[in-house]
Amino acid sequence: MIICRTKQQLRHALREERTKQPSITTGFVPTMGYLHEGHASLIRQSVRDNDITVLSIFVNPLQFGPNEDFDRYPRDEQRDLLLAENNGADIVFMPTVEEMYPIKPLTRLTVDVVTDRLCGASRPGHFDGVGVVVSKLFHLVQPQRAYFGMKDAQQVAVIQRMTDDLDMPVEIVPCPIVREPDGLALSSRNVYLSAEERLQALVLSKALSEAKELGEREGLTVEGLITQLSSMIRKSPLADIDYIELLAYPDLTPLPGEEAVKEVQGTLLLALAVRFGKTRLIDNRILSFVEVESHV
Ligand code: AMP
Repeated sequence: MIICRTKQQLRHALREERTKQPSITTGFVPTMGYLHEGHASLIRQSVRDNDITVLSIFVNPLQFGPNEDFDRYPRDEQRDLLLAENNGADIVFMPTVEEMYPIKPLTRLTVDVVTDRLCGASRPGHFDGVGVVVSKLFHLVQPQRAYFGMKDAQQVAVIQRMTDDLDMPVEIVPCPIVREPDGLALSSRNVYLSAEERLQALVLSKALSEAKELGEREGLTVEGLITQLSSMIRKSPLADIDYIELLAYPDLTPLPGEEAVKEVQGTLLLALAVRFGKTRLIDNRILSFVEVESHV
């Protein structure tokens, strides 16, 4: 496994591989490090689909708000490198902030509409920062495929739309959410949780998995479902709900609150963000009640 800390080293390593074998396909897995089994599943999928896999580890300051956890975001380089190697990554790109942004970027990359709700609304500027870093990384790595977890479903929708709008020659591959055996979605931020917070956080995956059955109930409206799920989560005294929403996926447009859930057509995203103490957790589930008829 080759470790590159500068853009020049990365370009050089990729050029070597591509000179040796011009038809080589490259898979790319962008991360912020403190890797876990969720990241590992993305790496393994890329290794299965491509000749070489590039993993990036970079905590991107542009996507953190002023009162967010950029400074205390967990980092463990040695452990990350071991996990990357054990899962088959060929190249790891781990630049410093100064290497990625030698001068403060003046370019903004805003994807409208899909960023109106959820984390786009509660973390202003977050997805602009994601857009800039992901497009820089795509230019540097030039992958055929890039792997993103559905844990960040809105991020998948944003990146997919950005690559479509700008004709970026990369296929976006969404990968399933990896969970702990008790249901908690894996996240680098889970280390912040106290034992009691972690226990109470189980309510998130429980609420999401009950949503399908609740939604099938006669007469339950979109608004009614959100109310029921919110009160289920509020029973955990440490839970402080940031949002819980049911939206059309992948457009991420709102649904009429008075519509019966079981009559809503197409693919839906039920997404939530909830704080436990200082830790903000996100989780989601894709649901569908009525399949849209295909006319082809
Ligand atoms: P992060 O390091 O949190 O920025 O995540 C890097 C990538 O790993 C993103 O595409 C995430 O969606 C993905 N990821 C994070 N947690 C999980 C998980 N539990 N299951 C699947 N993918 C994940």
